[in-house]
Amino acid sequence: MHKKLFIPGPVEVREDVLQMMSHPMIGHRTKDASNLQRSISEKMQKLMYTKHQILLSTSSGSGLMEGAIRSCTRKRAVVFSVGAFGDRWYKMAVCNGVSADKIDSELGKPTTPEMVDKALSTGKYDLVCITHNETSTGVMNPVEEIAEVMKKYPEVVYCLDTVSSLGGTKIEVDKLGVDICITSSQKCLGLPPGLAICTFSEKAIEAAKQVEFRGLYLDLLELYNYIKKKDHQYPSTPSLSHMYALDYQLDKIFEEGLENRFERHRKMAEIVRAWAKEHFELFPDEKYASNTLTTVKNTRNISVAELNKKLGERGYMISNGYGDLKEVTFRIAHMADITVDEIKELLQVIDSILF
Ligand SMILES: *Cc1c(COP(=O)(O)O)cnc(C)c1O
Repeated sequence: MHKKLFIPGPVEVREDVLQMMSHPMIGHRTKDASNLQRSISEKMQKLMYTKHQILLSTSSGSGLMEGAIRSCTRKRAVVFSVGAFGDRWYKMAVCNGVSADKIDSELGKPTTPEMVDKALSTGKYDLVCITHNETSTGVMNPVEEIAEVMKKYPEVVYCLDTVSSLGGTKIEVDKLGVDICITSSQKCLGLPPGLAICTFSEKAIEAAKQVEFRGLYLDLLELYNYIKKKDHQYPSTPSLSHMYALDYQLDKIFEEGLENRFERHRKMAEIVRAWAKEHFELFPDEKYASNTLTTVKNTRNISVAELNKKLGERGYMISNGYGDLKEVTFRIAHMADITVDEIKELLQVIDSILF
């Protein structure tokens, strides 16, 4: 039996979107391929509220995170970590020989504008990495407030990980001053895993030009130059199947309406948070609780594995905690095309198992 996914990626993918993955193949050096790529770029610009060039990568989101920190750090990067994914971004810098420092928040707490200001005021850094929505702790960082601080440092390249939030909550890339905003196909966009998407600003382009060794497959400047030179094509063969599905799904997202989509995510989050507070506790500071997934503190010491087994028998799947939080939390994702009614149904089924 298929289990309906309430895990923070990969998410449940609608049947009509899956069907688009089986579109007949086309040559990747054809006019049709250029048109497909251009169409996706224009739609993604609308979804990301940006005028910057959109880059696609046939990798998961991690590919572009690694590409961003390697391609655009000239001097030294600072990575703000609020959990597992910030830690991973720092590790990418280290493994690529990029000079970097990591500044941690206590788990469940956000990156604050004060922390960003303090680090950047040292003048040591020319690239900053921030996680918008930390999928381990369920923290959504205050990016509007951080944007105010970033205005003081116009020379710093701003990279934002919106892998588990873009498409589920409003992220106005240009207004926030983000240079490289990164996301993946398999979370709030509601597609299968395998495609990553980012914005690439003029500032980021100029920074990359000054970096000698940017790698090749994940070199953001190489991707950008190829798009410009070869009319929206890619240096290597992209996942055209994902591209057909994304182009289609973006139309569906606009059909729902962006504000409606964001509001649906807010509503689902509210319902899950209320449920979590009634029976358990929230893991993150509620002020910064995510709209796309809820990390619940396992205050009743239930066996999450046992709960998930029983949910599985009924056709549902949630997620245990991530990394160090494996036993002390569990996570319910409310992403992509899941509806308010489906979330209510899931919680009722959990109630019938636990209480
Ligand atoms: C899932 C996730 C990633 C990793 O993305 P992949 O597409 O799996 O490589 C990075 N950051 C956050 C916040 C995530 O949720």
